[in-house]
Amino acid sequence: ESFNDAVAGAAALNAFIVTTPDHALAAADAADKARADGKDLGPMAGVPIGMKDLFATHGVQTTAASHILEGFTPHYESTVSQKLWDAGAGMLGKLNLDQFAMGSSNETSFFGNVSSPWRKQGSNAAMSPGGSSGGSSSAVAARIAPAATGTDTGGSIRQPAAFAGISGIKPTYGRCSRWGVVAFASSLDQAGPMARSVEDCAIMLGAMAGFDPKDATSLEMDVPDWEAALSSDLKGKKVGIPKEYRMEGTDQAILDSWEQGKAWLKDAGAQIVDISLPHTKYALPAYYIIAPAEASSNLARYDGVRYGLRDLPEGAGLQDMYAATRAEGFGDEVKRRILIGTYVLSAGFYDAYYTQAQKVRTLVARDFENAWNECDVILAPTTPTASFPLGSLDADPLTMYLNDVFAVPASLAGLPAMSVPATMNEDGLPLGLQLVGKPFDEQTVLDAGLAIQ
Ligand code: GLN
Repeated sequence: ESFNDAVAGAAALNAFIVTTPDHALAAADAADKARADGKDLGPMAGVPIGMKDLFATHGVQTTAASHILEGFTPHYESTVSQKLWDAGAGMLGKLNLDQFAMGSSNETSFFGNVSSPWRKQGSNAAMSPGGSSGGSSSAVAARIAPAATGTDTGGSIRQPAAFAGISGIKPTYGRCSRWGVVAFASSLDQAGPMARSVEDCAIMLGAMAGFDPKDATSLEMDVPDWEAALSSDLKGKKVGIPKEYRMEGTDQAILDSWEQGKAWLKDAGAQIVDISLPHTKYALPAYYIIAPAEASSNLARYDGVRYGLRDLPEGAGLQDMYAATRAEGFGDEVKRRILIGTYVLSAGFYDAYYTQAQKVRTLVARDFENAWNECDVILAPTTPTASFPLGSLDADPLTMYLNDVFAVPASLAGLPAMSVPATMNEDGLPLGLQLVGKPFDEQTVLDAGLAIQ
């Protein structure tokens, strides 16, 4: 019965593309049986989670929320989802997202917008759950799923977590295998958990992470027991406050929330220090060159031959089929990214745009390396604004891109970064704070998150 209620709730939010109740029930039964038999239970035993529809799931349609993959049913399982099943979790269904994870509002899905369960005080306008992991943030915020997977290329775990008042962590690049995850920008893509609490994120990340020989950029490192080591005692830790994140256009409520976060971390024993990340303002433009460049290359594989959709007009040749399939199958935002990506990689413009953006990426990463001489973790807002009504930024891709301004620097540098719910704005909407850590130091990120939550 509660599953049916949940399905009805999910339908109203459009959080799921497909539901898989049998999968979740089988995991619950397996957990019951293991418990009855006195066997060891996995860390996620019986937990029914949502799976962002960017992870390939054996025998279950995997679309990346794009028409071009509609009907594609993988005959393999992504490493991350397999690890979660091995830990005992079950799947409620495949969660909606921005098409190919491109977007910040969950309005680019072929399967329709996802709505957040939150509303502005005194208004019934449907609000954005953020993106691209908006089905994940919406389902967890609405208490339909206790946790969900997300992926973060330039903020897609952190920004939706902030918009929906939940927690989400993007680990160090390489912690979670990318094998079986539909590729957007391979040098940035990273999976992570989205859940109601920092503790739940720590447990779930432990189940998702680990070396995978099938991913060439997978980290060959042990996975610490983050949950066991969790501590909100921050004595001896220095928290850096980057002055460049005080950007024009940031809501006053967000700046207030940042001040509040500093006070909480101080109460937890941390020392607050001012730091500088001088190249911050160049990170967003560099991201919106590098990510589309890699996307244009990754998306070349959708040609009407290998996966999902095929549009073969009467009497058409191979080229016509490619063109017709891609014209019909890709959404507008995906086409915009492919156009930007092929342009910045073209012979005449490669040095002016792509090479330049890669240099900026190095400078952004060096800013962080220098900052680690002065602090152990960085505190900043996750986003410059709270959630906005669906449809309000529709015709304005640049304003949409600007929503990622605080999220992309950590992505370019491959650093672990988390968003935790902090305060609310004057409309009663949740605001998130972001913690960015040293490479491989998810623990301090989680600990500081725990002190704030
Ligand atoms: N919103 C950003 C973009 O559209 C980030 C997306 C993501 O992290 N997948 O590129």
